[in-house]
Amino acid sequence: MQIYDLRCEYLNNPLGLDCLSPRLFWKMQNERRGARQSAYQIMAASSPDNLKKGNFDLWDTGKVQNDISTHIPYQGKPLSSGVQVWWTVRVWDEQGNTAEPSPAFFEMGLLSREEWQGEWIGSMLAGANRTSIPAPYLRKDFAVTRPLAKARLFATALGLYEAHLNGKQVGDDVFTPGWTDYKKRVQYQVYDVTEQLVQGANVLGAILGDGWYCGCVEWRGRQRWGDRPRFLSQLALTYTDGTEEIITTDDTWKVSFGPILANDMQQGESYDARQELTGWDSAGYDDSDWLEALVFDDPEIELNGMRGPTVKQTQELTPVVVREISSDRTRWFVDMGQNMVGRLRLKLNARPGIVLCIRHSEILDQNGSLYFTNLRTAAQTDYYTCSGADEEIWEPRFTFHGFRYAEITIYDINNGEPLKLTPENITGVVVHSDTPTTGHFSCSNEMINQLQSNIDWGQRGNFVDVPTDCPQRDERMGWTGDAQVFVRTAAFNRDVAGFFTKWTRDLEDAQADSGAYPPVATETSLLGESDGGPAWADAGVICPWTIWLCYGDKQILAERWDSMVRFMDFLARTSPDLVRCNPEHTGWGGFGDWLSINADTRTDLIGTAYHAYSANLMSQIAGVLGKTEDQIKYARLFAEIRQVFVRRFISQDGLMVSQSQTACVLALGFDLAPHEMRGTIVKQLVRDIEGRGMKLSTGFVGSSYLNPVLTSMGRDDIAAKLLYQTQWPSWLYAVTQGATTIWERWDGWTKEKGFQDAGMNSFNHYAYGAIGSWLYQVVAGIDADPSAPGYRRSFLRPHLIEGLTHAEASLNTLYGVLASAWKLNETGYTWNITVPANTTATLWIPTGDVANITENGAAVSSVSGLSYQRMENYTAIFQAEAGTYSFAVKK
Ligand code: BGC
Repeated sequence: MQIYDLRCEYLNNPLGLDCLSPRLFWKMQNERRGARQSAYQIMAASSPDNLKKGNFDLWDTGKVQNDISTHIPYQGKPLSSGVQVWWTVRVWDEQGNTAEPSPAFFEMGLLSREEWQGEWIGSMLAGANRTSIPAPYLRKDFAVTRPLAKARLFATALGLYEAHLNGKQVGDDVFTPGWTDYKKRVQYQVYDVTEQLVQGANVLGAILGDGWYCGCVEWRGRQRWGDRPRFLSQLALTYTDGTEEIITTDDTWKVSFGPILANDMQQGESYDARQELTGWDSAGYDDSDWLEALVFDDPEIELNGMRGPTVKQTQELTPVVVREISSDRTRWFVDMGQNMVGRLRLKLNARPGIVLCIRHSEILDQNGSLYFTNLRTAAQTDYYTCSGADEEIWEPRFTFHGFRYAEITIYDINNGEPLKLTPENITGVVVHSDTPTTGHFSCSNEMINQLQSNIDWGQRGNFVDVPTDCPQRDERMGWTGDAQVFVRTAAFNRDVAGFFTKWTRDLEDAQADSGAYPPVATETSLLGESDGGPAWADAGVICPWTIWLCYGDKQILAERWDSMVRFMDFLARTSPDLVRCNPEHTGWGGFGDWLSINADTRTDLIGTAYHAYSANLMSQIAGVLGKTEDQIKYARLFAEIRQVFVRRFISQDGLMVSQSQTACVLALGFDLAPHEMRGTIVKQLVRDIEGRGMKLSTGFVGSSYLNPVLTSMGRDDIAAKLLYQTQWPSWLYAVTQGATTIWERWDGWTKEKGFQDAGMNSFNHYAYGAIGSWLYQVVAGIDADPSAPGYRRSFLRPHLIEGLTHAEASLNTLYGVLASAWKLNETGYTWNITVPANTTATLWIPTGDVANITENGAAVSSVSGLSYQRMENYTAIFQAEAGTYSFAVKK
């Protein structure tokens, strides 16, 4: 047995926490069938030395007899600012063996506002709605006079910052401090800079970017929150003699402007390498011509530690094509082979003054030229002016682009020897929230595998501190509806627990006083204090619920509970007779089944269905939180809305009155149609699909439930046909067109019509990627059991979908890797599974007779760790303990 992956608040050795009872996690590696934890003892000390010596001066739980290994709140000595807690755990398995991993730590941030001693500083330049300023460079000389024990940099900005210390960037985060509603709060980061400091003269500096705070956000230009970036930091030095010193931002800092002439998330970055401030972040630099930094009033907003991951550079791509498209080496075409989000890094050897203009686009037009029209007002264009150094390496810092292609135009006023570009000059740097991969899915159909890849790339590119709709045009906003339909899929592909913990707080920050959740969060006041409407606003309930289901995180439910109740009260007030978006009511009807194809679904139907669904989830959430009265109250509400729904939207003969696939899917998927009516509605749904030549017509709302509902109604055959459909509208149509991400529209480009309306036609929009969860849950058969969430108990229930010969998926859960792989053979099929240690699973094995199943050659009745339950619908059901099993099933 091995205990590994010690985490705190989902992170390895985090710094700067500001929650008082950070939660601890570990995993058990144990190959033995049925391996589980029987007890644990957490030991915590103020230093690694104390921990080693057995001096647990912060916390010692003693031996606790239970099998919990996730989300255990720290309950030792109260934590104060900056305290570092070293901890480990001794685990007993069910046989009494013990194991203890090497220690981990977590460290607290600044717990009170008063501890921030610095002032917000920046420069005197402010741009305007459409004009930006050069990026301010800030610096401060200071001395370290005694031997240092440790040093921490606490930093944040309104705008973006990149901190530098003694010639080097601090940390490797991108777009810090991240995106929040800067009227209310901003996050800060903490870095261990002990090793970066020296005895004697040191320099702390920062480069400031416009970011979301004062750069372009959505389509309304710049300065949504403020007119120019501001920086706040303090460097806390602890000397070996026990004394402390704090270097804060104040008017002793200097400011200047250098090579970054302009920077904007949407427009791009301009960099003149001839203006580089060489050595600006090192000691000995002459800053006599720099100005005094400007000090700003305290904005009096909350300063918070990180609740989720930062954005990082996660991968580098080499172009698959770099080709000249002019005859005089002035224009070059670059194909990255993948629609990616991030930027290009250049490595050049060129004469000074040569300018490269890099334009980015997702797709080519009919002539093979880059298509820019769908970017709307987002230029996503970078300019680089060469310094003439032997090797110049440059990558923009304060911008990102959604692109597969780039066009590089080279301007050389001296008309010297032309610059030649090759793949060696160009690297694609992929940038997004650091949400590590947890899931893999593959099967025997290569087009479906490409679909899975497109879904994951769509997720990566759009999870940039908030779940955005798209990464390329002048929008890039946290649309709540998109996030809600996709969150379940997202939680398969990647570890998004922290990401959604942070974003659901943004959503609460954006909640209107009325209780309405908005259409977008982080709030940009785009649509005022408005209601996102059905399926959008409901993200406020669905997302926390899904994170609880996938990670077993009860705290997210508890933290968001009051806000969710306010939302339900808002719905109660605005839904006369329990009909949400009642046409007789003048309120906003919502976005409907956004981008559906020739199939309108009444907004009151969608509204009432989602109201019911949210009420149902609220009842379950109340149950989890032990709020029995609310559990009953919301269960009753669900039952009442359901009756209204049936009366209003299902006819006497059991048909949906709104004739659309989405109407049927909501009635079935949200458990609104009474049992006896379901058969008729399923027939209505299937008839509609068949009537359209085996095609779907659903938009953002219906598409995410379509295949899951067909499966739950026993119509895998129809779900499979929709999956294999290659004509639009379908999931594979874009794949046949060479897509490497999910398109916003089913018909983003067609042979008949060319490009869809350029006003709204993104080729990297994850919403339709919500089919991904069905691939994991149904085709490979991995699912969470809500009675023991977070895969403490899982469901393994593969569907041998017609047309596939094998399928497999794995998921790195909070307990370790859960896996399922099936493969057809001449005699039947094999099924290999892994159930992580300290968890159990319910297995559904498709077969006509339990006698047809063997495990590792043995009859299942004699297999240890496995207990047969019953046969149901040609499926043998078992309970399985942890372990790896290889089943063979005869036809
Ligand atoms: C966004 C969508 C969003 C929709 C709502 C669009 O502009 O790109 O993703 O859900 O608006 O109407």
